Amino acid sequence: MFGTAVRQLGYAWSMISGRRFRLKDVSALVDDMRATMEQFGSPGEGADDLLAATDPEIQEDLTRRRLKQTVRHAATETPYYRHLLKDDGIIPPTRKEALRGMPSAFVSDLAKPALLAYTTGTTGAPTMVWFSAYELELMSAMAALSLMMSGGLRTDHIWANAVSSRSIAQVIAERGVTRTGAAFVNLGIVDPAVALDRLATPLHVPGRRPQITHLNLNASYLGALVQEAERGGWSPRDFCLEEVWSGGEVLTDALRGRAEEMFGAPVHDGYSMTEIAPVSGEVCADGHLHMPADQGMVEVLDPVTMEPAEAGAIGVLVVTPWSAFRDTTLLLRYVTGDLVRVLSEPPECARAAIPATSRILGRMVGDQGLTTRDILDALQAERDLPLPSRYALDGGVLYVVADKKDRALAVRLEERLSTGVVLVEGPEELPAPCHVRADLIEHSFERPR
Ligand SMILES: [Zn+2]
Repeated sequence: MFGTAVRQLGYAWSMISGRRFRLKDVSALVDDMRATMEQFGSPGEGADDLLAATDPEIQEDLTRRRLKQTVRHAATETPYYRHLLKDDGIIPPTRKEALRGMPSAFVSDLAKPALLAYTTGTTGAPTMVWFSAYELELMSAMAALSLMMSGGLRTDHIWANAVSSRSIAQVIAERGVTRTGAAFVNLGIVDPAVALDRLATPLHVPGRRPQITHLNLNASYLGALVQEAERGGWSPRDFCLEEVWSGGEVLTDALRGRAEEMFGAPVHDGYSMTEIAPVSGEVCADGHLHMPADQGMVEVLDPVTMEPAEAGAIGVLVVTPWSAFRDTTLLLRYVTGDLVRVLSEPPECARAAIPATSRILGRMVGDQGLTTRDILDALQAERDLPLPSRYALDGGVLYVVADKKDRALAVRLEERLSTGVVLVEGPEELPAPCHVRADLIEHSFERPR
């Protein structure tokens, strides 16, 4: 018990001071937590305090100090910020193009780069982000703590990942899940029929549930699975899922509802991005996206002026991961490109202490003020439209992939979105390509049963 207390103090000290973590402490903390869970079945009293947000004033002071440290590291250690930051203290936002154009200019002189991760690049060319062994081990240990304490992951669970194998999320999830004692399956983004087979197949191994219990994937691939399952006559009885985690893309209420109906498990909506790891967010029951300030600074800026967006307005998420967590690719005020709406009123939900915005709205599509979420909400409310939803806006007209021409459906969409709508029969008929992450499909020799 004394050892645990000392490790918790060490962990808390790094969280408060913003200094580097002692990996030995963090790793031992994971082992302690796992042993407690195996013995008592729950994390024990006070464990929540480790991950909980502190009161706003203390949080503000911490944020100021961590920001100062992070800026100092970036300004003295990276070619990009050494050149950019002057003595006037102004830190201009960092655009994606800058990182994409010269990834090595953001790598600290003191770094020991160990792993190169590529972003999926559905919105352009992939971005390269280097990580060190320190970062990987720290983030995996933190993922393990969070999975055990707030995620309720237990040693008999089986977690399946169906995300791009090139992503850092894959590496962290594999290491994080196995550290908790649960089992990990790299399902991959395979033919949806093959994926359903794998989810439904009993695994018969000691100490584990009979089938996969947790599924982690992108929203468009969730759509592909739901459609395949509905068309194939699958039902919740075929699966043993306890939780589905969707991230990386806009998840609509309509798709979440259909997925919960089909898989008989709650679908959670999360937000993360390779460049800003370990900063991440989770959507609460009231539909806010909560992003804790412990891992980095999160700003919502007007997309044009880059000044703080006002209450109720749409802004872009701009994130600075703290240098206590990141020692390789250092980013200050990174413009994620992901839009959210600033809440009009402070949240009153169970997670009100954690800073919140609206859920991710995606990008602006065309110039009629429509966001990705506006369009997906409208399309996915129509059960007759195929999943994943595909569309393209051209000259003020929204082209939508539909299985068949349905005039009444097109009129409903036109009324809802206040734009002209043309239904087309396949993605190749769209005026511009509509890339979704479900397209990152991996070939396999398997045939679905
Ligand atoms: Zn909330």
